[in-house]
Amino acid sequence: MSVPLLDLTGQYQSIKSEILAEIAEVCDSQRFILGPKVEKLESEIAAYCGTPYACGVTSGSDALIISLMTEGIGPGDEVITTPFTFFATVGAIARVGATPVFADIDPRTFNINPAEIEKKITAKTRAIIPVHLFGQCADMDPIMDIARQHHLIVIEDACQAIGTEYRGRRVGSIGDYGAFSFFPSKNLGCFGDGGIVTVRDPEKAKLLKIFRNHGQSDTYIHRYVGGNFRLDALQAAILSIKLRHLDSWSAARQHNAAEYRELFTAAGVRGITLPFAADYCTRHIYNQFSILVADGRRDALRAHLNEKKIGCNVYYPLSLHLQDCFLHLGGKPGDYPVSERVSGEILALPIYPESTRAQREEVVGAIAEFMK
Ligand SMILES: *Cc1c(COP(=O)(O)O)cnc(C)c1O
Repeated sequence: MSVPLLDLTGQYQSIKSEILAEIAEVCDSQRFILGPKVEKLESEIAAYCGTPYACGVTSGSDALIISLMTEGIGPGDEVITTPFTFFATVGAIARVGATPVFADIDPRTFNINPAEIEKKITAKTRAIIPVHLFGQCADMDPIMDIARQHHLIVIEDACQAIGTEYRGRRVGSIGDYGAFSFFPSKNLGCFGDGGIVTVRDPEKAKLLKIFRNHGQSDTYIHRYVGGNFRLDALQAAILSIKLRHLDSWSAARQHNAAEYRELFTAAGVRGITLPFAADYCTRHIYNQFSILVADGRRDALRAHLNEKKIGCNVYYPLSLHLQDCFLHLGGKPGDYPVSERVSGEILALPIYPESTRAQREEVVGAIAEFMK
């Protein structure tokens, strides 16, 4: 039996008629940019995340960029973040001309370690971007304490974590901004690129909308240089439909994760570490189910699974301080030992909502066979 890492076709079939009706409505209206569908989605996502405002944008990457732009963060400013994340988190900092500064991760959650943040603060630090990686939240209370003490902005990179809760609070409602992605492989994905920023402060909410549209405060009157970060009405309409199903999809991922734990334990597989679920993460949405493979066997296990037609992938194989485009920041091997070790051991397994128990048995069986 082949097991894909992700297969979106089953989910689409289950909501196809709802989606196509909604697409037809947008086509009939011929209103494709912003407008009522985007406004509807913004209020739905704001309510879902427990924030008063949201601003629909072109992608999760742009959600990060526009948050930084709204704060006027740019050349000469430092932004502290994790070296173990998707490129866009750090790319956004560089794109606005600011300097990324890394703080190493917690070895169990793979999220930024608050104790490491404190060591990296200088007079130039303006913001912290914690990432809620794989659907598990970063430890936000100590991060917010540090931010308050040093007057720093907190932008939550919640691109993999819509609906995740930290001590009962939804991510995106804790920091100053929450950046979300609707890339198709996220728990809530659209039919192309899309993203949204959640925000608590009404003035910041207004500014986000100005920056989203070329910094235009009135028609053809520009107080700032923003960009075209506008969300399409078609994507917003599709997302409003999908949002109704999101909780059941995230519950299916949680169920699948629990089933993996049960199957791995029953099989007595050695040499791997199952994902750690922090007690402060009161709702984990399992965008990924990533195991650690010890003793330098990760790449061989990956090849073994590929041979058996079992999908798996490495998020992320190279710590960001060692990427060519960031070497000028002075990063060297050994600087962020936890991030570097985890990049060499991590392996994501299929966890998508529609995957079956039989498929998980296949995955666990293949891993048990290899690791014995
Ligand atoms: C997906 C993702 C992004 C970027 O989102 P896009 O919509 O692809 O631009 C940023 N950060 C993290 C952690 C992500 O997973």
